[in-house]
Amino acid sequence: MERRSVIKNLGGLLLLPAVGFGANSNAATPVLRLAHITDVHLKNDLGAPAKFSKCLHHVQQQSPRVDMILNGGDVVFDMNKESLQTINDQWKLLDDTMKSECSLPVHYCLGNHDIWWNEDSKADVFYGKKYAIDKLHLTKPYYSFIKSGWKFIMLDSTHLDIDNTWYIGKLGDEQFHWLENELQTTDSKMPVLVMSHIPILTALLMIEDDIVNKWTMLGGDMHTDTSKIISLFYRHPNVKLCLSGHLHMRDQVVYNNVTYLCNGAVSGSWWNGNRRETAPGYGLIDLYADGSFKERYVNYL
Ligand SMILES: [Zn+2]
Repeated sequence: MERRSVIKNLGGLLLLPAVGFGANSNAATPVLRLAHITDVHLKNDLGAPAKFSKCLHHVQQQSPRVDMILNGGDVVFDMNKESLQTINDQWKLLDDTMKSECSLPVHYCLGNHDIWWNEDSKADVFYGKKYAIDKLHLTKPYYSFIKSGWKFIMLDSTHLDIDNTWYIGKLGDEQFHWLENELQTTDSKMPVLVMSHIPILTALLMIEDDIVNKWTMLGGDMHTDTSKIISLFYRHPNVKLCLSGHLHMRDQVVYNNVTYLCNGAVSGSWWNGNRRETAPGYGLIDLYADGSFKERYVNYL
């Protein structure tokens, strides 16, 4: 009996981190609270509009209140090979929903489904990333801003593969040099949060069925320039937290004191329940002046 109660107590203790905030935090007041929503895949089907509105309301009902939203891409259901009418409808739905259901500032990065790769439309001014960039009022698909003493770097993960037929996760030379310069010109004491759609580093790709003697990882599932990016971050220890989505599952990898957080999906399994063991949800993150943070994944349905 005694042993049983010890185990029970241990169980209770072990449960604490799961229901509370994660580690890497201090006792001070946060300087900023943000919600990280990713992989919304919005379209007028599968109950998505009502569930997304519910998610936005859930975010805005948090106490203490959320200061801003980061949307990590795959904003609309899918543009890749769709007709202009279909993508117009998806973006109009997003516009209408954000206007009527959300009063918080939102910063976006692009996902692979926010790109128009319909070959018939190549001559069109909206081809590639131009349509989404225009809709989100961006000038470039990657950018940075400063808020509450933190620098936020929004990356553009999705680029055509070497044979120009499909996408892979990478920054490309121009964006990588921009990122190098961005970190070099940031005060070394200013903490940095990076958001990309495709994870820079994740362990989720090791979850595979039927592995015989090797894992197969696709260049579209994780950044292919991880080694370069990680070396760059190592030279800038003020890079603290990297957010991503894309895989619709949640994990956290800490490497060289940088936390790489792949934060599930608002749409779960494309509006069809859970993706494996990860339920539809969003990340709730408190940032502190000393570069620490607390975070947890919130199931809103
Ligand atoms: Zn994606």
